[in-house]
Amino acid sequence: MKDDFGRDIYYLRLSVTDLCNLRCIYCMPEKGVEKRCHSDILSVEEIEEITKAAVACGIRKIRVTGGEPLVRRGIVEICRRIAAIPEVEELCMTTNGVLLPQYAKELKEAGVDRLNISLDTLNAEKYRMLTRVGELENVLAGVRAALEAGFENTKINAVLIGGVNDDEIRALMDLTRQGSINVRFIELMPMGECADWSRERFISNSSVLKAAPELEEVGTAGVAKLYRLPGAIGTVGLISPVSSHFCPTCNRIRVTADGKLKPCLHSSREVNLRGLHGQELIDTIASAIRIKPKKHHLDDTMTSESVRNMNAIGG
Ligand code: SAM
Ligand code: SF4
Repeated sequence: MKDDFGRDIYYLRLSVTDLCNLRCIYCMPEKGVEKRCHSDILSVEEIEEITKAAVACGIRKIRVTGGEPLVRRGIVEICRRIAAIPEVEELCMTTNGVLLPQYAKELKEAGVDRLNISLDTLNAEKYRMLTRVGELENVLAGVRAALEAGFENTKINAVLIGGVNDDEIRALMDLTRQGSINVRFIELMPMGECADWSRERFISNSSVLKAAPELEEVGTAGVAKLYRLPGAIGTVGLISPVSSHFCPTCNRIRVTADGKLKPCLHSSREVNLRGLHGQELIDTIASAIRIKPKKHHLDDTMTSESVRNMNAIGG
């Protein structure tokens, strides 16, 4: 359905947990987050009910996210139920990839169409520093498991951080030469854990074009501008929420693991969906879509109005 500004909203990012097996320095507090009571987060049945109601409002693409979606108990069943909704045209997942060796095949069988795997560095030591507890080899095994399970069009999401991994732009984009892997560079957004980081950490995606002037523009996909290295199979995508906000073409809403609909990532506005059923649930989602703000102000204020950390939204 259309929002009040004529944008077609068809994409739902659904967070299934705030918990994570990593502690990325820009996303999660070092100590992690307090494990919530089972009843504080949406049950498998509630997730299915909310997804069906969202579909009745015109949602056609679902991305399961977190926290880390693969640490959520029942994740395969959640995916199976969403994939079984006939109007869902695409079911994707964003994951840190660590548990993919265990889950990739089951996810594929459950009906997940595509995976985005977050990987900000190819340097094992840096990976440990960035994630505080992660081992690079586990994610690389996860990428291999995704390919072996038959996932196509897999994307590697890399958040660029000035002075940390901007020297790896080339190495990361070279992954697009290795079969059906696409790389997406995402600008770091000042929110939650990294809200008060120094300005030098926030670098524009123009640094990617500067590092590889031979990139050829090949179009757009959702909010990403797409490029290709000459001779490469995969694409290099730039997602630039800070330097060139894409609010006029925004097509998404978010639902948090505790059942709040967020019409805009950077707004503090949330609409409770828990306890609602049937037509009331559908009407609430429809009116939340209609009130989606025209734009956020991240580009001029470098401040997100969202009160949540990224792990509690889902990216
Ligand atoms: N745990 C999963 C993962 O890391 O892919 C899914 C959730 S994570 C919150 C989703 C994405 O948000 C990841 O690619 C992560 O790098 C990105 N992210 C987290 N904090 C961010 C920030 N402040 N700015 C930009 N991207 C961020
Ligand atoms: Fe976990 Fe993903 Fe946040 Fe890293 S970015 S701490 S993997 S939720």
